[in-house]
Amino acid sequence: MNRLIIISNRVAPVTEGKSQAGGLAVAILEALKRQGGIWFGWNGEIEESAEATEPILKKAGNITYATMPLSRRDHDEYYNGYANATLWPLLHYRLDLASFDAATYEAYRRVNALFAEKVTPLLRDQDLVWVHDYHLMPLGQELRRRGHGQRMGFFLHTPWPSPEILSALPAMVELVESLCAYDLIGFHTRDDLGCFTQCVATSGAGTVEMAEDGASACITAADGHRVEARVFPISIDTTNLEKLAAQAAQSEATQRLRDSLVGRALIVGVDRLDYSKGLPQRFTAFQELLDRYPENLSAVSFLQIAPPSRSDVTEYQQIRRELETMAGHINGHFADFDWVPIRYLNRSFGRRTLAGFYRAAQVGLVTPLRDGMNLVAKEYVAAQDPDDPGVLVLSRFAGAARELEEALQVNPYDTGEVAECLQRALHMPLAERKERHAAMLRHLRTHDITRWREDYVAALAGHP
Ligand code: UDP
Repeated sequence: MNRLIIISNRVAPVTEGKSQAGGLAVAILEALKRQGGIWFGWNGEIEESAEATEPILKKAGNITYATMPLSRRDHDEYYNGYANATLWPLLHYRLDLASFDAATYEAYRRVNALFAEKVTPLLRDQDLVWVHDYHLMPLGQELRRRGHGQRMGFFLHTPWPSPEILSALPAMVELVESLCAYDLIGFHTRDDLGCFTQCVATSGAGTVEMAEDGASACITAADGHRVEARVFPISIDTTNLEKLAAQAAQSEATQRLRDSLVGRALIVGVDRLDYSKGLPQRFTAFQELLDRYPENLSAVSFLQIAPPSRSDVTEYQQIRRELETMAGHINGHFADFDWVPIRYLNRSFGRRTLAGFYRAAQVGLVTPLRDGMNLVAKEYVAAQDPDDPGVLVLSRFAGAARELEEALQVNPYDTGEVAECLQRALHMPLAERKERHAAMLRHLRTHDITRWREDYVAALAGHP
C-alpha cells in the first residue's frame, strides 16, 4: 500500500499519540494509520529562525508527524494576512471584508515554497500526497517544480465562490493555474465544483469536461496535464456520535443544563466566532421570534456557544464586540428575574458535552451566511433521540443543506423567515419531527466520515 503524505497548515496537536482535535483530524489520522505515512505542517509555534529550521520528526506507530515553526513575519503575512484576511473572506463571498496586499500574497507564495522545500527530503516516489485547504493551494505546483511526479490531491474545506466574486482577487488566475498541477481536487458540493470549473474555463487555465451528474469534471490544463475535480462531501463519525449522545444524555453537564431550563424549550447554536457564521443575524432572528410570538417569552432559551478564533484579525475582534452588545441589549430588553433569553458563551466545549447539549435542545439553529459544509448541522442530527428528535433549522448557504434536505431550510439574511421557522420548529408535531429526522439520519449513516476518507483516498490512488 502506498504511503500517505498529508500536508495541512496546522498539524493537530498530538498528546501521547492521541489527537485532541475534531472530526477532520480523526479522519486524517485514520487514513494515516491504515496506509502509514507522514503528517506535515506548522506546529503552532512562532520562532525567528523558522526558515533555517528542519522539520521536527516524531514517530507514533506507522505515522510520522513532521512539524515546523513559522517566523513572526510569515505568521503575520501568510497566516493572518493572505490566508485569513484575503482568501477566507473571499471564499465566503465577503468581498467587503477582504484585504488585498501584494506583500501578503508574496508571503503566501513564500511559505508554500518553504513547505515544499522542507517536505521534499521526506517524499518517496510511490507516495500519495494529500494537501488540505486554502492555505496551501500552490503547494502542489511548488512540489512539481522540485521534480515530484507522485499522485497529488488537494481538498478545499471552504466554499469555492462564483467567478464574479473571485475575479476581484489579483492572483486568481495564478491560483487556479496552480491548482491544475494536482491530479485530484476535492470540493464539498456541486455548486463549489461548478464555480471552480467556471473559473478554470474563464481564466483560460484549462478546458473542462463536466460529467453529466455534475459531481465531477475532467480538466485538461494549458500544459496538457489532466486533473480530476470531484465532489466529496465531508461528514462526521455518525454511529460514534449517536452512541456518545445517547450516553451524554445522562451526563452531569446535560443534567445541569436541563435543570437550569426548568421545563423551557432550548434552541442551541454552536459555531466558531466567525463572521461567516451569521451570528448577528441569528441574534436578530431570535429577537424577532420573541417580538412576533410573545408566547415564547419566559418559555424558550437560546444557548449560543461561540469560542473565539483568529483573534489577531481585526474583523474577528469587531464581531466579538458586536455580539456582546447585541446579547446585552436583547437580554436587557426581554429578560425576567427568573429567565435570561440568550445564554451567550465565548468558550469551547468537548465533543461529549456538546453531544449532550445537542440532544437536550428542541431546535438546532445553524445559519451561516456561507459555509463549506458545517459539521455542527450533521452532529446535531446524529445526536437526537430518534423517538423524540429536535428540529434542525439550517441555512441554505451551508454545504450541508445540499444533503440535509429535510431540515427547515432558511435564508439567514431574512431574519423574519428564520423567526418563522423557529416558531414552526418549536411547535412541530412529533410524527413530522421523526420523519424528517429519520431521513437525515439514514443519509448520515451511509455518508459518514469513513466514506469521505475512503472515497477520496481511492480516487487519489487512481481507483475510481
Ligand atoms: N466544536 C467543538 N467545541 C466547541 C465548538 C465547536 O468541538 O466548543 C467542533 C464542532 O463539534 C464541529 C467543529 O468544531 O465538529 C466545527 O466544524 P464546522 O464544520 O461546523 O465549522 P468550522 O469551525 O470548521 O468552520
